[in-house]
Amino acid sequence: MSDETVDCQSDYDPNSLSLQQARTRIIDSLAPLQQVQWLSLSECLNRVLAQNVEAPRDVPPYRNSAMDGFACRACDLPESGEAHLDIVGESLAGHAYQKPLLANQAICVTTGAVLPDNADVVVMQERSIRTDTKLTFNVTDAQNKSFVRQRGSDTRLGDIVMLAGQRIGPAQIAVLASLGLTGINVIRRARVAILSTGDELVEVGTAPAADQIYDSNRPALTALLQKAQVECIDLGICADNPDAIRETLLKAAANADLIISSGGVSVGQADYLRSVLDDIGELNFWKISVKPGRPLTFGRIEKAHYFGLPGNPVSTLVTFQQLVEPALNKLSGEREKDFELALTARCESTLTKQAGRQEFQRGVLREGDAGELLVEVTGAQDSHILSSVSRANCLIDLPSDSRGVAPGENVRVYPL
Ligand code: AMP
Ligand code: MG
Repeated sequence: MSDETVDCQSDYDPNSLSLQQARTRIIDSLAPLQQVQWLSLSECLNRVLAQNVEAPRDVPPYRNSAMDGFACRACDLPESGEAHLDIVGESLAGHAYQKPLLANQAICVTTGAVLPDNADVVVMQERSIRTDTKLTFNVTDAQNKSFVRQRGSDTRLGDIVMLAGQRIGPAQIAVLASLGLTGINVIRRARVAILSTGDELVEVGTAPAADQIYDSNRPALTALLQKAQVECIDLGICADNPDAIRETLLKAAANADLIISSGGVSVGQADYLRSVLDDIGELNFWKISVKPGRPLTFGRIEKAHYFGLPGNPVSTLVTFQQLVEPALNKLSGEREKDFELALTARCESTLTKQAGRQEFQRGVLREGDAGELLVEVTGAQDSHILSSVSRANCLIDLPSDSRGVAPGENVRVYPL
């Protein structure tokens, strides 16, 4: 039975877990992977740090100029009015001026250039007049801001600049490079096996019979796993046959840290995942009170964790984002986020919903003329309507007790 056909009140099951309960159960049953590998900076994007990073040097490594301009000594400046100094040389980025400044001397400097030890003021070029070797500027410009970057003003030798469990993005790579680190230790990638189940499914590139459809969940899962930086073991399409499912799941369990199947987890006569799991694995929970995604199975098969996602493509995408992604993050050693970035937006559509389970509708979030956030639903929200997801840039999170939303009411949204 597909989950969009049962969204009436009778569908409410007091034994099903809330999303938060399901998430907690999942997180509590997973331990981060322990194996570590060293990767160069060019290889570590989106991986997770295995250990704290301690700064091996000061950044910046020397006092330098924050502007193109002129460096001088504060003690040579009058208290007010104009300063008149002699320009005696230059310090360019990568070509330091090697001497201390003497009385009434200034040097021309570029941004990032080393400052002589006794130069404590930089005046902007745009605020100075240079005539040959003479420099004139108003001292209030020098007094307002000195444009000197101190050694170690970004990071000091010995500082812990990143904690184990940090996901490495472009900014973290920049920090590591600025410290002169060529690479770092990261947690190894999780190995995730995926399979689709259903006699109606064919692989793209194969002609479907009149009663068949293309398998879109596996390409979607492959992409989601690619984005999550985990290793994907593609086990293809499995027929609605308990023996074939059992064999495929056991093969998956021998090679993967986590297994994701889609389809066959409900109570229809061709839904075998639940009974096969009872046979070869261990069930943790079976139902969540979330739409889309109600019949979602989580458990273990041998050493591998197992997610049986519903077959409806929208359910697969949404439950992956809500439940599988946090599981992969924990497995990959990522520290739990302190908060989830939810926004409040004014809803411009009428949203229909039954009370009794949390619901994620797909929406388009935009900024209104006055800077306010507005959200519109992306048309029909049945869980087989993939186009509702591909047009969306956010999920609208409707709490369990909501009975729908009228235009003008505020809703919580998660940008995608
Ligand atoms: P099931 O969960 O097996 O009852 O499937 C629910 C609905 O999702 C049915 O309409 C299936 O045809 C569809 N479905 C299941 N698996 C896939 C898949 N891999 N790709 C596209 N649609 C699927
Ligand atoms: Mg099926």
